Amino acid sequence: MRIAEIFYSIQGEGLLAGVPSVFVRTSGCNLRCQWCDTPYASWKPEGPEMSVEEILKKVLGWNCRHVVLTGGEPMIAADLPALAAALRKAGKHITIETAATVVPAGIVCDLASLSPKLSNSTPPPERDPAWSKRHEATRLQPAVISEWIRNYNYQLKFVVSAEPDIKEIQNLLSRLPPVSFHQILLMPEGIDAKTLAARSPWLVEICKRKGFRFCPRLHIDQFGHQPGT
Ligand code: SF4
Repeated sequence: MRIAEIFYSIQGEGLLAGVPSVFVRTSGCNLRCQWCDTPYASWKPEGPEMSVEEILKKVLGWNCRHVVLTGGEPMIAADLPALAAALRKAGKHITIETAATVVPAGIVCDLASLSPKLSNSTPPPERDPAWSKRHEATRLQPAVISEWIRNYNYQLKFVVSAEPDIKEIQNLLSRLPPVSFHQILLMPEGIDAKTLAARSPWLVEICKRKGFRFCPRLHIDQFGHQPGT
């Protein structure tokens, strides 16, 4: 499968924030978010083809229990189930970070980090008419999200840029199995510390009002926005 990068860092977002983790970032995505923070794995996919054995060898080079399979969209990589199975065999804790547009089909996973995309993600047609249409048609699939929720330990993460996004989240939740609010995390949209700092107080107030969980982006605060972190 095509790999954009493999690196050792700390988990920056979600219920496992702060946990040292090896990240395997697959290259390629079935979406094109306008604010994508990893364009080298979506809009302009980069990286070499690697076999499951090669990836495993590299991951096992770090003495680290947690492995995060991320992207791009890792669930479109044909070899991902084999990689997850091999990592489980090696005793690893596996997080899969996915937009939840692809059914899990029994893949091995300890934490499904589901990040459904709201309408704020859709690129304007002027940027790329074909992808704008395809993204909008693909980005939100309640039946697929439900499949993940019913079968896996999960968290639901949303990138929020404006107040109307909250209504969209609530509409989506009404179409899913009951979800505990402590598993719903809202992150401010932004890929630099200054933007995140400016938007965070506003989002914190929304979380306080609605009972959602606020989700910082530690890796951006710590390292800035750059590959390998
Ligand atoms: S789903 Fe993730 S990787 Fe794909 S375009 Fe959106 S933000 Fe980028």
